[in-house]
Amino acid sequence: MGGAATAVPHFVSARGEPLPGAAQSSAIVQLDSNENPNGPGLKTLNAIRAALPLANRYPYGEAGALTTAIARLHGVQTNQVIIGCGSSEILRMAMQAFTSRTRYLVTAAPTFETPGDYADAFGVPIHAVRVGQNFTLNLATMELEAPGAGLVYVCNPNNPTATVLGASAMSAFVDRVGRASPLTAVVLDEAYHEYVDDPSYKTSIPLATAHKNVIVSRTCSKIHGLAGLRCGYGIAHSETIAKLARFKLETGVNQLAIAAARATLGDQERIERERAINRETRELTRRMFESMGCGAGPSETNFILVDVKRDARLFRDGCRRDGVVVGRPFPPLTNHVRISIGTMDEMQRAALVFKRVLNA
Ligand code: PLP
Repeated sequence: MGGAATAVPHFVSARGEPLPGAAQSSAIVQLDSNENPNGPGLKTLNAIRAALPLANRYPYGEAGALTTAIARLHGVQTNQVIIGCGSSEILRMAMQAFTSRTRYLVTAAPTFETPGDYADAFGVPIHAVRVGQNFTLNLATMELEAPGAGLVYVCNPNNPTATVLGASAMSAFVDRVGRASPLTAVVLDEAYHEYVDDPSYKTSIPLATAHKNVIVSRTCSKIHGLAGLRCGYGIAHSETIAKLARFKLETGVNQLAIAAARATLGDQERIERERAINRETRELTRRMFESMGCGAGPSETNFILVDVKRDARLFRDGCRRDGVVVGRPFPPLTNHVRISIGTMDEMQRAALVFKRVLNA
């Protein structure tokens, strides 16, 4: 047996904790990282296989081709696009380009933690604005905090609350922050863009190309099912892209990730299929929790935030003991647990565990 050395990478949760039952991978239901449980589509898998013989070559030309394809897809110029090793790299570049010990980060509580984690690592002060009513981002307070900030991070839809803000709110926010504090960058993280149904929502890409210091980040890790390959991108004004590029990991997106991204990004048919599957499984999951007396707010994503009406850590540990891994803690919401949407079969298996842990 290869032992722990081969088993460990697969059986470690998003934040590096070992998972129970590591010897029986198929028994574990992983609902903790908002991945697409269906993985990449066949067309994408074939593109990955076809790219394997390129493994000995640095992906200079291929990275350029992906950048051009992304620009075409969104109707922007190639100098308005930057690719990264996951959208996490876009967030890291933005933090390095725009924040400092005196230029703080404005973020939400709770929201996706990576910008805050980089702030901690770089010694950047953090102003975290608690989400408002119905767990939507409190844009009005974030706007008040913006003057003097290096960067304002707006996750839309927001992870972990699954709420979305409409296009007019985002546009007014970007205009006002730009006028009040032109040197402050605004990062609009659209990792879950493809899952949104709310008709008031629209991508903020037109805002990003029209205003300096506004960046939209996107990822191949969610609906495209490529979290393990690491590919994301940012779209912004060309001068903003140049600021980010100073901190880019040279050739940080590998041949296989590039081939996969090129195959999947414009595949609207598959996106629609994945959206539909996710919507159906998500609504079943919501009803299942409701039948156990636990509500979940509306979701525009591939996860739901469930009020488990008890300390979330107890629920999480109880599920973990039975091989179901759910989302990490998201303070200050101590009684809520983020459940990523798995396959229908996984959710039905997980339901038995949820029922037991909730005594429902
Ligand atoms: N942004 C948000 C809102 C996320 O939820 C995640 C991952 O969960 C990321 C960015 C990072 O994604 P990537 O895999 O592209 O680095």
